[in-house]
Amino acid sequence: MSAQTGGKEQERWIYLDNNATTGVAPEVLEAMMPFFGQRYGNASSMHSFGGLVRRDLDRGREEVAALLGAHPAEIVFTSCGTEGDNHAILGTLRANPGKRHVVTSRVEHPAVRSLVRALAEQGYSYTEVGVDAVGRLVLDEVREAIRPDTALLSFMWANNETGVIFPVEELAQIAHARGIVFHTDAVQAVGKLPIDLGSSAIDLLTLSGHKLHAPKGVGALYVRRGTKLFPFLVGGHQEDGRRGGTENVPGIVALGEACRLARLHLDEEQTRVRRLRNRLEEGLLARARDALVNGDRQQRLPNTSNISFRYIEGEAILLLLDRFRIAASSGSACTSGSLEPSHVLRAMGVPYTAAHGSIRFSLSRYNVAEEIERVIEVLPPIVERLRAISPFGRGDERTWTGQAEEEHRH
Ligand code: PLP
Repeated sequence: MSAQTGGKEQERWIYLDNNATTGVAPEVLEAMMPFFGQRYGNASSMHSFGGLVRRDLDRGREEVAALLGAHPAEIVFTSCGTEGDNHAILGTLRANPGKRHVVTSRVEHPAVRSLVRALAEQGYSYTEVGVDAVGRLVLDEVREAIRPDTALLSFMWANNETGVIFPVEELAQIAHARGIVFHTDAVQAVGKLPIDLGSSAIDLLTLSGHKLHAPKGVGALYVRRGTKLFPFLVGGHQEDGRRGGTENVPGIVALGEACRLARLHLDEEQTRVRRLRNRLEEGLLARARDALVNGDRQQRLPNTSNISFRYIEGEAILLLLDRFRIAASSGSACTSGSLEPSHVLRAMGVPYTAAHGSIRFSLSRYNVAEEIERVIEVLPPIVERLRAISPFGRGDERTWTGQAEEEHRH
């Protein structure tokens, strides 16, 4: 799997959208297949046909725990990252009924951001802490946001759009000093950064299988022993009563294998993948005019680069890249007929003309140097072509800061 394949004709794609989803690793696919066939038992059954499946499930749990430096009993399997985030936040609020306030950031994924907004309509409240121009948190603002009724601090480990890393260990210490639970959405961090929860103050951590070469439909929530958490799905006794529902055995086996592989490849993320990302960035910045990197270039995931090509639309770039079978994503979303830059770039105060032209490239261990060279060759002429017909004027330096600030306290 040197490059991903797709489509009827199995054409080769240069897939640089791994923060959206990843290809299932061949070893992962092989590991999960028997559980769609002969080994279909229910892990909760008394008979050994099911009991054997339980052993595979336990092995999956051990692998997830090993990648995180956690104990297997601290792993609860979920269906996706969104479920893990919802479970952590709702489960903590329900387990601490006297506390109704959550502190989070202005750049969280909708799995957290939309949830706290929905909760605000049900008698809860939240504070979103802002970020600086390169996407870093101001820790003093976090401390100031904490109230006597704060139940939970929830901050992502790494941002899905920019790759910027938050200081989660310090945030967890801030929470603990005030007797508050700390949750991190680590969906983009797991498999890309070393994690050792055994020597950490983090109470709850979310991960999602399809971001680390397992299939869609499986994830996990780490729950530190002793953390009070209300179950998310109330039903059977599965997952020690923390999440009802017959276990997704093929998915869990797949996640276990993906975590085992991630552990083996962790060094490669920090070295080869990082070098490819840096080469892509340097090549594009050298060859395309008016291009800039969004987000802190030091405290950043090794696989992610968010680049703004000023005065043009990101969507137009993506469509032209698509013709070359190059897959990336843009920093704006088409909502209600208008193209609106992402909340992340707006929170950073990225100028209007830059936010509109932002492209996120996210690599994986399956990318190779020739693919990166191809993008460096193909993209700059696309940028020049689009600039020639761009509706944006140079010197239009509006930012989104004002609008974003209105939203952040509820
Ligand atoms: N959190 C972050 C940071 C993400 O990037 C994503 C997915 O893009 C999610 C949560 C949601 O994960 P899932 O797609 O598994 O629900």
